[in-house]
Amino acid sequence: MVWRRHAVALPLTVVLLVIAVSHSRRRGPERPRNLLLITLDTMRADRLPVYGFAGFDTPALDRIASDGIVFEEAFAAVPLTLPSHASLFTGIYPPRLAVRDNAGAPLSPEFTTLAESLRRHGLRTAAFVASAVLAPGRGLEQGFDLYSAGAAGRCPGIPTRRRAVDVVDEATTWLRDHDSEPFFTWIHLFDTHRPYDLPDEYKDRHFDPYVAAIQYEDAQIARLITHLESRDLLKRTIIVVAGDHGESLGDHGEEAHGIFLYQEVLRVPFLMRGPGVPVGRSTSLARLVDLTPTVLNLFGITVSGVDGVNLLGAEPHAAPEVYAESMYPLRFGWAPLRSLRADRYKFIDAPRAELYDLATDPGEERNVVKEHPTVAEAMRRRLRTFDPAGEPGTAATGQADKEVLDRIASLGYVGQRAASPPGGSNEQVDPKDRIAEFNRITLMQWQHGEQRRALCR
Ligand SMILES: [Zn+2]
Repeated sequence: MVWRRHAVALPLTVVLLVIAVSHSRRRGPERPRNLLLITLDTMRADRLPVYGFAGFDTPALDRIASDGIVFEEAFAAVPLTLPSHASLFTGIYPPRLAVRDNAGAPLSPEFTTLAESLRRHGLRTAAFVASAVLAPGRGLEQGFDLYSAGAAGRCPGIPTRRRAVDVVDEATTWLRDHDSEPFFTWIHLFDTHRPYDLPDEYKDRHFDPYVAAIQYEDAQIARLITHLESRDLLKRTIIVVAGDHGESLGDHGEEAHGIFLYQEVLRVPFLMRGPGVPVGRSTSLARLVDLTPTVLNLFGITVSGVDGVNLLGAEPHAAPEVYAESMYPLRFGWAPLRSLRADRYKFIDAPRAELYDLATDPGEERNVVKEHPTVAEAMRRRLRTFDPAGEPGTAATGQADKEVLDRIASLGYVGQRAASPPGGSNEQVDPKDRIAEFNRITLMQWQHGEQRRALCR
């Protein structure tokens, strides 16, 4: 594992930090009492000041970062909310979980989640989520004593989404009533997901609404930290912050997220602070599948049979490679995408395959697949081992219930395979050739969702 405290790492500093971490573990690590996990939906790492973005401040996230560890190269396994969270909570990649997109089957009870492990360990567990994509019944409620997606508004059923202030209000109320015992609280914030729904005081905060939404979420995270401090719980609580996936924001032609597997949708923030967590920055590869084994290890719980590794082990080891997939194109009759990152190279398996040398081309602008055919072929073969059964058929993926499908459609997601997919049903269609159509479909669904939301207010 590569550690660094400053922008330029010195080998001696690296060695000393690793020794310091190992030494503190030999003395017996301080065990945490509580866990607060904050997942930030649709949060690309490179838009945050803690990852080098300039022009605005996020004091709460900066504070968490300076108190603990920043994983600079952290990656989601899939650019969609439900499968990414399912993978994060189990430490297992999507193919084994069979949770491949937002509209398919829920997470099966056969898998053990972070919440189940911590509840078995004696923690009270509560989740407060902000989007219908994570509604109760989608499988993530496993292990939670309380799992809240918010109260219905004027329209019946679950709300499509809710603002961070509502999530944090509900969470702090629960914490006040339950923090006399060890707890695990998961908070999911959705404000950076389009169509934006910011409070009035944030609408003109920044010319870029994505940045304004980040500032709004940071202010709500600050409330959580203040709450923990006021209850004298901060020093006994691990706080983990992670993005579930990023946002393309127009890069590579994609407006939002869900189809492509470029860095802007896979590289996410991943911060951790609290008892037993070292202070510094890690430039080694890290993945959301590593979150659960790493956190459980801090509580003295060892995990086996998962794809993730403990990133803070006594013998620190980096995640060796990063798998990612997008099965969502299948909903449109297009070819699915899979990618593998190993060392400097990233390979994307598609009808027209792509290979990028991230060391010289971090923006993935120059496809070098023809220049390095041997590297590409080796990575393609390796990629197949992550998903030996191949792509899921519609039957294998199952389906969410009608209410959930209706809600997620208004957030821009197609719930079922279109009867006559745009461009014809040919799964050899490269999503690169259809991204403009995808953007148009998503935009239409957002507009429809806005109308519905206005009616439900
Ligand atoms: Zn998401």
